[in-house]
Amino acid sequence: MTHHIPFNLPYLTGKEAHYMYQAVFKGKLSGNGDFTKKCQKYFEDCYGFRKCLLTTSCTDALEMTAILCNIQPGDEVIVPSYTFVSSALAFVRAGAKIVFADSYKNNPNIDADKIEALITPKTKVIVPVHYAGVACDMDKIMDVANRHNLLVVEDAAQAIDSYYISPKTGEKKALGSIGHLAAFSFHETKNIISGEGGMLAINDERFIRRAEIIWEKGTNRAEFFRGEVNKYGWVDTGSSFLPSEVIAAFLWAQVEHLDIIQDKRKQLWNTYYRLLEPLADKGMFSLPDLPSYATNNAHMFYLVCNNLEERTALIKKLKDNDILAVFHYLSLHSSTYYQNKHDGRDLPNCDKFADCLVRLPMYYDLTEEDVKLICEII
Ligand SMILES: *Cc1c(COP(=O)(O)O)cnc(C)c1O
Repeated sequence: MTHHIPFNLPYLTGKEAHYMYQAVFKGKLSGNGDFTKKCQKYFEDCYGFRKCLLTTSCTDALEMTAILCNIQPGDEVIVPSYTFVSSALAFVRAGAKIVFADSYKNNPNIDADKIEALITPKTKVIVPVHYAGVACDMDKIMDVANRHNLLVVEDAAQAIDSYYISPKTGEKKALGSIGHLAAFSFHETKNIISGEGGMLAINDERFIRRAEIIWEKGTNRAEFFRGEVNKYGWVDTGSSFLPSEVIAAFLWAQVEHLDIIQDKRKQLWNTYYRLLEPLADKGMFSLPDLPSYATNNAHMFYLVCNNLEERTALIKKLKDNDILAVFHYLSLHSSTYYQNKHDGRDLPNCDKFADCLVRLPMYYDLTEEDVKLICEII
């Protein structure tokens, strides 16, 4: 007999309600209070982001990046097609044309060697997405961006606590600390969560002042409360991008447990890999490709089946055993919303991952026995 194994289960550390209660009883419920500042400082200190601002979602953090990059109608933004809608949507809303890039053959990330051919005089931004928390080839991406004077916005939604190790210098840099700007997600499906939540990381000094203003509805409120100006008012565009202190209090409990969460997830990930490797060696499917410049944050464990039929059969077989495995993105370049705006180029590697990739259950409360059972059924 098997028991139900969901695809994801949000993990609670036990401290969330306690910190939310503290926030409530301090009487400070709106944004940018003590819990917000504690979270932001933790991420800045731990990962070397120049400045962090919590947001209500990663999507909102990406919207902020589109404003900061000063996207104008007609500007072009290079985005992988194998990603979540938000990576493109934030720029589309600002009027950009999305130029979709293909994945590598063996890795869903943007193929860094194919970016330069997509650049035109209208290109303004490149958006590498660190799929499954596995680094894109950031040396190559930053090099091409610098040579063409482009901005780089990392979609690091899945990439908390993961690193890029430069093959040139050996330097180990946290994902989200390399591009000019980066966006993280704390949605309940990510490694650490606040239900809905996100964060903008600002690595290029030039954007910090404006980011704070955009964050607080286009006002210089943050400067006012630091005593840097003697009145505050409307100085720029913006929105209400900051989360309530209650959300930040929840996130703080998760941040405190980050190492424990990561250790457990990596252990489960390694068990999956060890048990499935013999089948992958026989060519039944392929396992995640970890380039030598990337670390693993165990955000996700996926397989790439040989074709759509085998993937459908595998998902069904697992479902018959009450185990939920799920496929992931449909190619954005052939989406209902964008296919008519796409320039018609084929993106075969992206389409292959759309057809063949399957994600297996991965969450803190999953047990080693669960993983063994899943692997046996596979
Ligand atoms: C989860 C995710 C997002 C969106 O995050 P939200 O916090 O839900 O807005 C964006 N991009 C990628 C790659 C994601 O995985």
